[in-house]
Amino acid sequence: MDLFEYQGREYFARFELPVPAGNVADNVDDAVRVAEAAGYPVVIKAQVQVGGRGKAGGVKLADNAEEARLHAGNILGMDIKGHVVHRLLIAHAADIAEEYYASFTLDRAAKKHLLMLSAQGGVEIEEVAEKDPDAIVKLHIDPTVGITLAEARKACVDAKLNPKAVDQAAVILLQLYRCFTEGDCDLAEINPLVLTPDGTVLALDAKVGLDDNALFRHPEWAPWTETVLRDSRETLAHEKGLQYIGLDGTVGIIANGAGLAMSTLDVVNQVGGSAANFLDIGGGANADVMAGALEVINTDPKVKSIFINIFGGITRGEEVAKGIVEALKRVNLTAPIVIRLDGTNAEEGRAILASSGIPESTLMSRPTMLEAAIAAVAIANK
Ligand code: GDP
Ligand code: MN
Repeated sequence: MDLFEYQGREYFARFELPVPAGNVADNVDDAVRVAEAAGYPVVIKAQVQVGGRGKAGGVKLADNAEEARLHAGNILGMDIKGHVVHRLLIAHAADIAEEYYASFTLDRAAKKHLLMLSAQGGVEIEEVAEKDPDAIVKLHIDPTVGITLAEARKACVDAKLNPKAVDQAAVILLQLYRCFTEGDCDLAEINPLVLTPDGTVLALDAKVGLDDNALFRHPEWAPWTETVLRDSRETLAHEKGLQYIGLDGTVGIIANGAGLAMSTLDVVNQVGGSAANFLDIGGGANADVMAGALEVINTDPKVKSIFINIFGGITRGEEVAKGIVEALKRVNLTAPIVIRLDGTNAEEGRAILASSGIPESTLMSRPTMLEAAIAAVAIANK
């Protein structure tokens, strides 16, 4: 789960990282109020989960209420690389002498944490990596050992940070590492980390990716998961433990396994249809899970047909069939189902469906993925 900058800053602050206090606003009047309270000059920043906001005009400085009103109005509603701005972060603007880059990520190949540090911050790190790769200091960290202050300090010196910044930056790296590890991040990035003219080092941006696998031990993440799952279908699916992503098409998709679900989307597309969603019920799904999946898809008014594509491995055909029969008792489906059921116990499954008394107009079976896709798309495009 990726955080918005204002949430990332809040997370950073919990680990004592020096982030200037800021507040959010969802409309121009609130933006001006927040700006007045922060004290001019202020920086007004688009809150979207994509980098390069600065370049796109989504980060502006304002010296007075008039400018704050103008910039807030321009940035709200702006489309930055396909992300529409609904919220602004406003903070007292810092003076900048130098801009640096610092991040911790996981290097899976090396099975270590990776610190990346550069004196060339403010631009995207990929750009630095291309133009001047030597300007990025990379330090692998054994997760069982961690990083010491001396090592962090050496990284700052190696990266040629201003000598005035080194001591503070080294402490910041340790705080950022604590945020990354104890905070269960898969990314903790500050760009820019700035040195002000009076010699203070501050984090002016916060890019935080939280590791969803650690959700169970972070009840305090709950408000953030809610803002991420804005789609009501996704919220319902999430509650049922399903891997669901809402899309814009008309064919509801249920498949077992992420790979099969992806190919199902492709095949539906290939035969002229469009998927309403991605939904993976996972391996070993039972009747209850299938019923839950159908319920979620049934809440989507755009769905005109439902394509259930099961290739049973661990998932057993008769469980899938029982789930469908069960679901049809519980849910009043608004779209017909086309099913392709193959693999483990497929014949038992088909026998259950055949003897269930469900009419062909509600549920039809097709022997292959392609034939089932054609049938589902034909109904959806009618
Ligand atoms: P990004 O472009 O999406 O990464 O957004 P950033 O938060 O990194 O902001 C982009 C640029 O705006 C930074 O590199 C700074 O140059 C500038 N900026 C951001 N905050 C401030 C601030 O408080 N004061 C000043 N003077 N510039 C800022
Ligand atoms: Mn940035």
